[in-house]
Amino acid sequence: SSAPVRYLLHDGELIEYADARLHVLSTTAKYGVGVFEGFRAYWSEEDGELYAFRVADHMRRLVDSMRVVEIDGPTDIEELSGQLLGLIRANELRSNLHMRTQVFVDSADGKPDDTGPSTVYMAAIPMGNYFGATGLAVQISSWARLSDRAMPPRIKSIANYQNGRLALLEARRNGYGAALLLTESGHVAEGAGYNVFIVRQGRLCTPPSTESILEGITRDSVLQLAATQLGLEVDLRPIDRTELYSADEIFVCGSAAEVNHVTSVDRTPIGDGTNPGPITQQLQDLYQRAVRGRIPGLEHWVTPVYGT
Ligand code: PMP
Repeated sequence: SSAPVRYLLHDGELIEYADARLHVLSTTAKYGVGVFEGFRAYWSEEDGELYAFRVADHMRRLVDSMRVVEIDGPTDIEELSGQLLGLIRANELRSNLHMRTQVFVDSADGKPDDTGPSTVYMAAIPMGNYFGATGLAVQISSWARLSDRAMPPRIKSIANYQNGRLALLEARRNGYGAALLLTESGHVAEGAGYNVFIVRQGRLCTPPSTESILEGITRDSVLQLAATQLGLEVDLRPIDRTELYSADEIFVCGSAAEVNHVTSVDRTPIGDGTNPGPITQQLQDLYQRAVRGRIPGLEHWVTPVYGT
């Protein structure tokens, strides 16, 4: 078979990859009701260990997401975390992984306002880099980032992803690698699957969580790394579009995207137009160490999967 792994997890039970099912008339399929998490585990050859990154924080956000979109699902963060780690061990995976937890509403002939019965699927699948190391040529999208008055951008509701998808398709059609979206009021929000930081006039800046962004866990990791390892205070403030064109450095960050530099915005080169700037480089390096439990004081971010 073409299954990338043998097992998935369904409501805590191992199932064969091909046996995952969702009814075509479920509330999820009909109305796009569902929430999810996506994050990584890193294999360390040196330690002979696999490290899952900020598992409990992802499961906490999953539970928050369920509350916001009103899905009656599991709420025990420790249990959810343990199930995911058990799935990795059942598949005996020893490489870099992308892990997903999906919560659906699988009512037959579902109504838009059904809040259950919920069903939880988990997957852990080998994955390398999401983007290349060459940096991103981004386009400012003509689509606005969805706002908290219409949809909840701060959590991972699957329906939100229609917004980023339109932006990404537009950017690709126009020959760009990625898209950044502005809020309805014209401030920089985020990309289709990543938050954004800029370095301008010597200050590291990122939009606050009230600017129609996902409350990214990588964003939070970068904030903590900047403060504790580089002694950099980060400005959490609204960012205008034109600040992007005059930024010294720009990077995006996300669990899949990691920390990745932006080489141009609407074809305007950023920095030397090719390489990450010095602060971006330092944060990239710190992040790659943090996800392998190599930053003193931040080891609690990683969970050893095999317990060596
Ligand atoms: N924004 C959006 C819209 C995303 O989908 C993601 C990926 N989850 C991010 C930002 C980055 O979030 P995190 O660092 O928690 O993966």
